[in-house]
Amino acid sequence: MWDVEKIRADFPALQQTVNDEPLIYFDNAATTQKPLCVLDKEMQFYKENNANVHRGVHTLSEAATQEYEEARETVRQFIHAASTKEILFTRGTTTSLNWIARGYAEKVLKEGDEIILSKMEHHANIIPWQQVAQKTGAVLRYVPFTKEGFLDEEVLDELLNEKTKIVALSQISNVLGTENPIARLAKKVHQYDAVFVVDGAQSAPHEKIDVQALDCDFFAFSGHKMCGPTGIGVLYGKQKWLEMMDPVEFGGEMIDFVYEEDSTWTELPWKFEAGTPNIAGAIGLATAIHYLEKLGMDQIQAYEAELMADLLPRLQAIEGVTVYGPKDPKDHKGVISFNIEGIHPHDVATALDMEGVAVRAGHHCAQPLLRELSVPAAVRASLYFYNTKEEIDRFLEAIEKVKEYFQYGIE
Ligand code: PMP
Repeated sequence: MWDVEKIRADFPALQQTVNDEPLIYFDNAATTQKPLCVLDKEMQFYKENNANVHRGVHTLSEAATQEYEEARETVRQFIHAASTKEILFTRGTTTSLNWIARGYAEKVLKEGDEIILSKMEHHANIIPWQQVAQKTGAVLRYVPFTKEGFLDEEVLDELLNEKTKIVALSQISNVLGTENPIARLAKKVHQYDAVFVVDGAQSAPHEKIDVQALDCDFFAFSGHKMCGPTGIGVLYGKQKWLEMMDPVEFGGEMIDFVYEEDSTWTELPWKFEAGTPNIAGAIGLATAIHYLEKLGMDQIQAYEAELMADLLPRLQAIEGVTVYGPKDPKDHKGVISFNIEGIHPHDVATALDMEGVAVRAGHHCAQPLLRELSVPAAVRASLYFYNTKEEIDRFLEAIEKVKEYFQYGIE
């Protein structure tokens, strides 16, 4: 039994009112709220174990190092990586993707090599590759999505060829909510010996991830979208790629020997983590992972599917509402983007805020995607496991109120 009220009690931020209404937090694709255990853990670290890692021999430093490295092991288990050497702590998905682009792609790509992306990517999975292309002479190719909002695999099949060196795709679109079949796509990509980069920012929070079963070469995600702190994220990479990939930042912690003119790097994973890392963040993320695992990733996924099955058809049925992406709630993973005819999405979001509902409006860092949809902006409601059916009822009532307020349909 999913005891959502008990779960909500773990989240102080969900207890508040906004504009005199109980908060309905439907902006989870942007960032999620944090359970008390994560907040307490960070506080406890700073109160009791705060010291720098990998340096001191004193008790606190050893305790901090142990907690930090245990956090890496927690992440390894969470995504079922083969080794902690393959788990790098970063600032978030954006940093993770930039590291691959700078440290790996810029090193190995040559003029005329091809990088395949899709039209449904977040800017974080577009711009680093544009930079690579500009620096190396590699060429970007884009896979479109179908009318229903799915990756057009036929075009991907046509685009893949011997010149393809990297394919970088999101597992779940942060606008359409559609999921790409990563394991199947990995087989296709690997037939051409290309490297498969997966942006897992919107999938890791919502479903079980097994990087070995997916057989992706790199997998990036952010702690703050899965109950963890901001400023901490993960880059998983297969060891063989991380061995040949260059660090992007240089300084303390990542070196072996430093001479006046040159230096050598220490072993994986530390060769990438220059300077003092986000120790409390990593420990907070591990606490968030333990929290999610206690709830059960399968159970989280099942409950969110139930919420989506309730919300999507009722939203679609409202006159004047256009929902983007698939029609079937099963194909919407956590995210619904929509517009109300004749009302600007920013006005919708502002009016919803007056009703205590937090949603996002804008281009959602996916301008090429919105251009394909021929809309400049959209409203996005995104759910997490602590949302409720009562909130969905109130959200839909709020949408009707927004329509009334803007005199929808009145000439
Ligand atoms: N990719 C996707 C699909 C996302 O939704 C986001 C966050 N909106 C990112 C990448 C970037 O994540 P972050 O801002 O945490 O680096």
